Amino acid sequence: QTHILSLSLQAKMSRPVQARRLEGIEKNIWVEFVKLAATYSTVNLGQGFPDFPPPDFLKEAFTRALSGENHMLHQYTRGFGHPPLVKILAQFFGKLLGRDLDPMTNVMVTVGAYQALFCCFQAFVDEGDEVIIIEPFFDCYEPMVKMAGGTPVFVPLRPKAPKDGKLMSSADWQLDPAELASKFSERTKAIVLNSPNNPLGKVFSRGELELIADLCVKHDVLCISDEVYEWLVYDGKEHIRIASLRGMWERTVIIGSAGKTFSATGWKVGWTVGPNRLLQHLRTTHQNSVYHCATVAQEAVAQGFQRELELFGKPESYFIQLPKMLQQKRDWLVQSLDAVGMKPIVPEGTYFLVADISEFKSDVPDVPDSDEPYDSRFAKWMVKNKGLAAIPLSAFYCESHKNNYNHFIRFCFAKEEATLKAANDILQKWKREKTSP
Ligand code: PMP
Repeated sequence: QTHILSLSLQAKMSRPVQARRLEGIEKNIWVEFVKLAATYSTVNLGQGFPDFPPPDFLKEAFTRALSGENHMLHQYTRGFGHPPLVKILAQFFGKLLGRDLDPMTNVMVTVGAYQALFCCFQAFVDEGDEVIIIEPFFDCYEPMVKMAGGTPVFVPLRPKAPKDGKLMSSADWQLDPAELASKFSERTKAIVLNSPNNPLGKVFSRGELELIADLCVKHDVLCISDEVYEWLVYDGKEHIRIASLRGMWERTVIIGSAGKTFSATGWKVGWTVGPNRLLQHLRTTHQNSVYHCATVAQEAVAQGFQRELELFGKPESYFIQLPKMLQQKRDWLVQSLDAVGMKPIVPEGTYFLVADISEFKSDVPDVPDSDEPYDSRFAKWMVKNKGLAAIPLSAFYCESHKNNYNHFIRFCFAKEEATLKAANDILQKWKREKTSP
């Protein structure tokens, strides 16, 4: 017994255990809202993943890889990317970018786009470096910059009122060129670009990308280009890769995700494409953190890309079919929200849609001095009282800008028709209850 007692005394630690780099970044919107959705929601349009299956050809490729003759697919593969996958990615992106890519040095596979982002910030950002982030932004950019010792510098997209009663579009949210230019200085190491953008669905125009590119070249700044929604663009819009603009290939890392590309977010296969001068440092980070990614999933994604290369631009291509299907879902949700007065901002891309909740303020009154932004309280109230899960837009802003954009919520429309219909039923019923005394 005395032995046990002395062990427990020894086990008690008084020194602080948390590394300084974790200070202030403990909270995470997804941990909080995924739990709320699991507890209360009947219809979950919160977190960004499809509730429909990946295409059959991809599932079959996975099954073949899993139960085929080649048992080596159950073992480690090359750390920087399974050879068949990096080869096909080099071919595919080489074609898109119009340049010869070396699979071994211009491509690296990661555990989802998330790890690709982590590698970039760890590899490029030093203590004191500034990284420009365009708001609203995929929330992990900020803590990842901070963990690397850097300082995030935020610049918001500013909404312009649409003309004559039309619905707002994500294209109405624009950078102020002078404001953007004012954020660049000799301390700036990188800018994070996310086009098509989560959460707004904005697809940056050529003009907007040229503005960013010119500033990157002028100030010798890197561009971390998160293009996970590259195939999800609507209404004939074009996704332009900033790396294809003059002076940008040398300073850009392109980040992609098989999760978003093939509707298989749980596989967590991602990649980076860029010049060896940059990728060599991503390899250093990768080899000292994750190093190997799941072989079977990489093999299946490689076969998916092989098929897409053969069908490139053809109607059977998944990269043509997926946006076509999602555009219909977008239009459906736009109509459904518009009909109840939750004004949608029509997204040009991604599978997200941001809607204005101002007309619903009577249901969830404002608490003037609350620390929590209004949209966050609204989204929590909505999931608890209506069973409908969405994400508050303020979660995609830095602390000091959250309250400027606190009357919007984000919906994910990569969902089965039945799910979207169930969401519509909730909204319609809510609207009826609102109008009847
Ligand atoms: N970037 C953006 C903009 C995203 O929306 C996401 C996923 N929600 C990621 C990166 C991470 O992608 P993955 O699941 O491939 O890690």
